Amino acid sequence: MPFDFYQPPHRILMGPGPSMVDPRVYQAMAAPLVGHTDPDFFGVLEDTSELLRYVFGTRNKFTIAISGTGTAGMEAAVVNFVEAGTKVAVFANGYFSDRFTDMCARQGANVVRSEKPWGSVYSDEEARAFIECEKPQIVMFVHAETSTGAYQPAAAICAAAHECGALTIADCVTSLGGMPVEVDANGIDIAYSGTQKCLGAPPGLAPLTLSGKAVERLRSRESACVSWYVDLKLIDEYWGNSHRYHHTTPITMFYALREALRLCHQETKEARFARHRLNHLAFVAGIEAMGLEMLVAREDRLWTLQTPRLPDGCNDGELRRYLLTEFGIEVLGGFGPLAGKVLRVGLMGASSRRQYVLLLLGALGTYLGERGGVAAAETVYERKAWRGGFL
Ligand SMILES: *Cc1c(COP(=O)(O)O)cnc(C)c1O
Repeated sequence: MPFDFYQPPHRILMGPGPSMVDPRVYQAMAAPLVGHTDPDFFGVLEDTSELLRYVFGTRNKFTIAISGTGTAGMEAAVVNFVEAGTKVAVFANGYFSDRFTDMCARQGANVVRSEKPWGSVYSDEEARAFIECEKPQIVMFVHAETSTGAYQPAAAICAAAHECGALTIADCVTSLGGMPVEVDANGIDIAYSGTQKCLGAPPGLAPLTLSGKAVERLRSRESACVSWYVDLKLIDEYWGNSHRYHHTTPITMFYALREALRLCHQETKEARFARHRLNHLAFVAGIEAMGLEMLVAREDRLWTLQTPRLPDGCNDGELRRYLLTEFGIEVLGGFGPLAGKVLRVGLMGASSRRQYVLLLLGALGTYLGERGGVAAAETVYERKAWRGGFL
């Protein structure tokens, strides 16, 4: 045999995704295939919808997972709801709203953008003023911006959008399963995510949920969706009662997602969010004890993706190589306006653990010659200083 069986190196995945996968999810993936139209497999899809409703915080009937990574979820949101001439308002404060803008432009949409520096978020007043001024048909924002570590609250944006009859699209790729998304309470019409960030499965599926109003708009659309593969009307016929063949769903990925969601359900959302928040607070305490600063203002930070600023003269590539070769830890750097300025540290899903937080702080401390990070984090764990509400 010229090629050996591939044996990956042991890695601790603490970048912006993929994150660590629980052994039970790998175990689920080793199960033999059934066909994608096997009556038993439709039970797997039903379970997946039901569990997704739980993590999304929704009663939306239309709750599915698209075949493809998070980007496929974004593409499905665009091509099904944005046509030539559709007026789309985008809150542009990071990379993923730029990607969304590009997709809309390719549909010939009329895109208007409210720009803010990377790492900042929109106040309720700013959000409302932009929407009232533009009166768009679609409003898009990134709930958890993975390129910056900033958290954008959803409620005020959705309320203002609904007042002018617009539908809202929220990118929840880095929040779903790690922070409250609460689709119904916030009034999000179209939410999509990915499996490999806070849900703790490998990349390959994009959870997506549509409100009743979004389903109505989808049904009343006259032109055919330009994409056949992510046409939600066609995909709905496969998930719905007629179970009409559309494409061969990635069976094994559904085993993985179902098990990952079952683990979320077993842990409970509340405990899971509290765990993400606690590890976030402990990590930040450790970073600050080493004299480093966080990019994002305290009240705007994600619990799932942290962006400590690199100290002056610290080479991001060299530091990341050190972490990878000495400790097997993967973290990524910043890009775009943040290139060379920050680290992007994911504490998502199964990667959000005390043992990983302490290991990374210890490794960073050794590299930077700054002790005290681990002790500061331990103080947070001892105090369990996370009592109280979310954010
Ligand atoms: C990762 C990510 C995506 C894209 O997901 P892929 O799985 O890489 O296709 C989209 N939006 C946000 C906010 C992300 O973090």
